Amino acid sequence: MHRLQNAGRDSGKTNGVDRVTTDKPIPIGRFAPSPTGSLHLGSLYTALAGFLHARSLRGKWLIRIDDLDTPRNIKGSADTILATLDAFGLHWDDNVDYQSRHLDLYNDRLNDLAKNGLIYPCTCSRKTLSSIGSGIYPGICRSKPYPPEAPHALRVKTDSRIIAFRDELQGLISHNLAEQDGDFILKRKDRIIAYQFAVVIDDDRQHINHIVRGCDLLDETPKQIYLQQLLGLATPAYMHLPVIVDSQGYKLSKQTRATAVDSKAPEAVIFELLQLLKQNPPHELQHTPVNELLDWAVAHWNPVSLKNTRKLAI
Ligand code: GLU
Ligand code: ZN
Repeated sequence: MHRLQNAGRDSGKTNGVDRVTTDKPIPIGRFAPSPTGSLHLGSLYTALAGFLHARSLRGKWLIRIDDLDTPRNIKGSADTILATLDAFGLHWDDNVDYQSRHLDLYNDRLNDLAKNGLIYPCTCSRKTLSSIGSGIYPGICRSKPYPPEAPHALRVKTDSRIIAFRDELQGLISHNLAEQDGDFILKRKDRIIAYQFAVVIDDDRQHINHIVRGCDLLDETPKQIYLQQLLGLATPAYMHLPVIVDSQGYKLSKQTRATAVDSKAPEAVIFELLQLLKQNPPHELQHTPVNELLDWAVAHWNPVSLKNTRKLAI
């Protein structure tokens, strides 16, 4: 666990963060965009909430670029995303982290799981997989020797243990992994490390203990907690925000407002997002510079009005 040195009662600054005087771990949050295009309103909303949450806890807020899914990456978009966050006053701590710089670590951890008999190679074809009506993989390849000759994915063996956690907004979530998820993929047949696995290794590597992200990932969380258990890692606190949908109830798409946000008037966009996040920003602040607006929002951050809400329409 990452702890700040307990250097007495003074509240000096360490990396721009107030030093805590107890030996509680410092809160660390993150925003982890995939570099697949510009930052749109939905991702700015997630970034803003994560920033406000971490800052209101007097914690750090880190940026990680989730760039493992190389076929989907768009050249230059990581830099565009970072410039946009900066323009909106969402300043992060430490150096930006890139998943692609940690490939050896993911593969080492996969080898550890293999040694313990917890993963297995799956050579099932796309056709076989799509014929499984439930979508839950029935363990066809469970007894395949490791490693096989043919191209293969790596799956983790699940069992029927119940994985339960209390989400800070969505309440108690519980999953029976064997029944609801089945053995899921940690490394794809194209050799790309799967999101589920990388995110668990990264959040631990970066000492993340507060995760704020969209509800679209709520059902993925039990898988991540299961992997944390297998690897002996701590489970962070989770806050799954309602996802923004259009008036028809669909997730924002390129046709709706998933176009790049306009960073020429950042305070207007942040003001709108604070209203969406039910923070009731006072009207007097509508035209104040974005940094002042954010200072107000950090001091007043209270996500309670978002409780038990999975969708927010704009
Ligand atoms: N790169 C992932 C996404 O954009 C991050 C997911 C997460 O926050 O865990 O969906
Ligand atoms: Zn298989």
